[in-house]
Amino acid sequence: MVERIDGHTILIGLMAYPIRHSMSPTMHNNAFAKLGLNYAYLAFDVTNKELPGAIAAIRSLGMRGSNISMPNKQKVIPLLDKLDPAAEMVGAVNTIVNDNGILTGYTTDGTGFMQSLADENLDIRGEKMTLAGAGGAGTAIAIQAALDGVKEITIFNAQDAQWAQAKKNVATINAQTKCHATLYSLDEQAKLRSEIAESAIYCDATGVGMKPLQEMSLITDSTFFRKDMIVFDTVYAPRETKLMQVAQQAGVAHVFNGLGMMLEQGAQAFKLWTGVAMPVDYIHELLF
Ligand code: NAD
Repeated sequence: MVERIDGHTILIGLMAYPIRHSMSPTMHNNAFAKLGLNYAYLAFDVTNKELPGAIAAIRSLGMRGSNISMPNKQKVIPLLDKLDPAAEMVGAVNTIVNDNGILTGYTTDGTGFMQSLADENLDIRGEKMTLAGAGGAGTAIAIQAALDGVKEITIFNAQDAQWAQAKKNVATINAQTKCHATLYSLDEQAKLRSEIAESAIYCDATGVGMKPLQEMSLITDSTFFRKDMIVFDTVYAPRETKLMQVAQQAGVAHVFNGLGMMLEQGAQAFKLWTGVAMPVDYIHELLF
């Protein structure tokens, strides 16, 4: 680190609150070191209150950019100059790139999800997906999958605060992509079963299975799944969720937690800032 940082080091931030637990600084700084890139990545406690000043600092300090996480992913949008089309459709930003004072907002959660499947030689383009959840992760996944050519997405959500977002996602996908999206309440268990039966992939983006719900799974009956499908949980702590256990009982061939997505969303941001591919295999080995 001491050898690497000098007067020319380029700063990249992570602006969120709480954020000190994040693995992103370790991930990016190890990748910079491995490739000999003169960048440093630091986490900053930034709430909505500090956000305008923090974004102004990206400009005034000539930072290359920043990751943005909760509670700032939506609030940051009016403070930027441009939005990538996917970020515009998702309505959230997790990565900012500063090109000579022009700040562009991107979202890399969805591309990270799709790339994590590609890393496993899995291609869901032209297929049907059943997706639980329409929060930050669920929205990014649905929009990117639709943009990338997934044929049909059936979204299930609880009739909670995110229901309106789920409706919005379906409307956006149907209006702006070739994918056909439909929404059902998670209460409709028979529908959930029949939609999964027709899908190449079931993805849970609800966080059920993560603390404090680590003993829970939205699906407890292994007969919901087929052996030849993909079951993907965006949760990565714990590494094996209840949903994954149910899928394994069913003998599902491809069962994943959210680690690959987490790594790849970081890799997409890394590429946007540096123009260079993150050494994903090295980081995977080092951190996981
Ligand atoms: P969020 O709060 O924005 O959305 C939560 C979603 O889950 C909503 O659709 C909500 O309706 C639903 N939900 C919440 N509690 C529920 C319950 N008890 N039963 C049914 N549905 C419920 O959260 P988010 O930011 O989208 O994160 C969701 C999960 O995805 C978290 O576990 C998070 O760690 C994970 N995530 C992973 C990555 C990754 O890279 N692997 C990236 C982002 C988020």
